[in-house]
Amino acid sequence: MPWMASSADRMPLSLVEETVLSRRKRIVVLGGGFGGSYLAKELSRRKYGLDVDVVIIDRNNYFIFYPLLIEAGCGSIEPRHCTVPIREFSPKADLLMAEIVGLDTTASEVSYQLIGDDQTRQLSYDHLIVALGSVTRILPDHIVSGVREHAFFMKHMSDAVAIRDRAVELLELANAIDDVEERRRLLHFVIVGGNVTGIEVIGELEVFVRDASAYYHNISDDDITFSIYDLSPRLLAVLPEKLSVWGTKKLRERGIRIHTGKSIKEVHADHVIDSDDQKIGCRTVIWTAGIAPPPILKELDGLPLNKFGGLDCQSDYRAVGTENIWGLGDCASVPGPDGKPMPPLAQIAIRQAPQVAANIAAVEQSRPTKPGHVALQGILVPLGRHRGVASLKGIRVHGFLAWFMWRCIYLLKTPRFGRRMAVLTDWVLNALYRKDYVQLGMRPEAHRDMCSSHSEGDETTNQDSGES
Ligand SMILES: Cc1cc2nc3c(=O)[nH]c(=O)nc-3n(C[C@H](O)[C@H](O)[C@H](O)COP(=O)(O)OP(=O)(O)OC[C@H]3O[C@@H](n4cnc5c(N)ncnc54)[C@H](O)[C@@H]3O)c2cc1C
Repeated sequence: MPWMASSADRMPLSLVEETVLSRRKRIVVLGGGFGGSYLAKELSRRKYGLDVDVVIIDRNNYFIFYPLLIEAGCGSIEPRHCTVPIREFSPKADLLMAEIVGLDTTASEVSYQLIGDDQTRQLSYDHLIVALGSVTRILPDHIVSGVREHAFFMKHMSDAVAIRDRAVELLELANAIDDVEERRRLLHFVIVGGNVTGIEVIGELEVFVRDASAYYHNISDDDITFSIYDLSPRLLAVLPEKLSVWGTKKLRERGIRIHTGKSIKEVHADHVIDSDDQKIGCRTVIWTAGIAPPPILKELDGLPLNKFGGLDCQSDYRAVGTENIWGLGDCASVPGPDGKPMPPLAQIAIRQAPQVAANIAAVEQSRPTKPGHVALQGILVPLGRHRGVASLKGIRVHGFLAWFMWRCIYLLKTPRFGRRMAVLTDWVLNALYRKDYVQLGMRPEAHRDMCSSHSEGDETTNQDSGES
């Protein structure tokens, strides 16, 4: 693998590992998502005067542009168009596509396993950045059972596509059966968690399923139900009350059942039990009830963690009690001006990156570091059917304008001109033509019986088939 090939002193990574004494300073970034990739890009800017190698370690060679993930799942844009290749985004950094498995802060070494290889390798660092994002929060079984086994999530590309595949599968199944009660159970979609992600999911998915149902002669509008549960007294609790009330009213007008102050305590394959002990028939539960720090943080020895398991950082982004470990993004608990941790949002992670880079440069140049308070710029939530709610720097908007603002802002924020054009083209085509209501194959078990098994002595499977 070429190691930062543009410079004469760069060499293959294996050699660099062996000649640690002669190498340049190295900044290792754990996680190449919003925080990690924007930081890696930032560190290469001349203005910081840093002459360092930057290595990102991530299990993927892309990061997801999350604001568009739900649209990608529901077919408004091509799934590929909401991914950003890390190598292209931060071309001056190097990337190890690997699983991070350990940390030795005394030796300043990270352990990792390259994807597709079992060997554990070490990489030394002068500065370590922890930007490992978050995971979906699943409550213990005695509070809510069956989530891990039966629910869908909205965190990875495979989650988004799996939900769409599930919806198409259930439409096909429901259309083919005569039992009305069973058909209604098949087409009851339950979303748990009524904040931004849950609302975006229900808004988009409801449009997808209802529009798709026009092609299914046995399915009527009454057969399809969407329900959303949230323990808070209102949906979209992160927004000012008036906007939340407006958004809830619009969802209700579309027939979506809203259950606030309530949750689900058991998830089963064909029903849920709600917090009032009511049994509700449904075959799809989508769990969007919060996020948690990634469990791997607990296995990285020497990292200071808070009581929730997040990386405990000072306001200059340095991990508490360390000299050269820094955190940003969802996994880092960094106090804002009010002392509360900054919210786990992409807009925050992106704007934290320049201050982390500046503080690393300050340490390298023996200058004091500075706190880097990043305030929330606003929240925009699309509700589907060309409606949305938005609260931006004190301005509150709802309806078509809010939806249009959401699209414009995230289009402009999408990295690279080419990708922006691709997303725009998807949206235009989507406005002109119907979506493709097809599965994208997130059911690998469906194809297993099409593979040949090479058992010994089995002539039919061992021979080179000349059949056509
Ligand atoms: C559906 C959805 C919609 C959202 N919409 C918005 C929005 O509209 N606006 C907004 O501001 N925010 C939004 N967010 C939140 C936003 O995506 C996060 O706040 C942001 O991604 C945080 O950046 P990060 O770098 O901390 O984490 P991430 O971007 O998640 O990056 C973490 C990276 O670490 C890697 N990683 C983790 N563990 C390991 C390991 N053990 N080994 C190797 N690699 C590892 C992952 O592969 C990933 O690439 C949304 C989130 C979701 C799920």
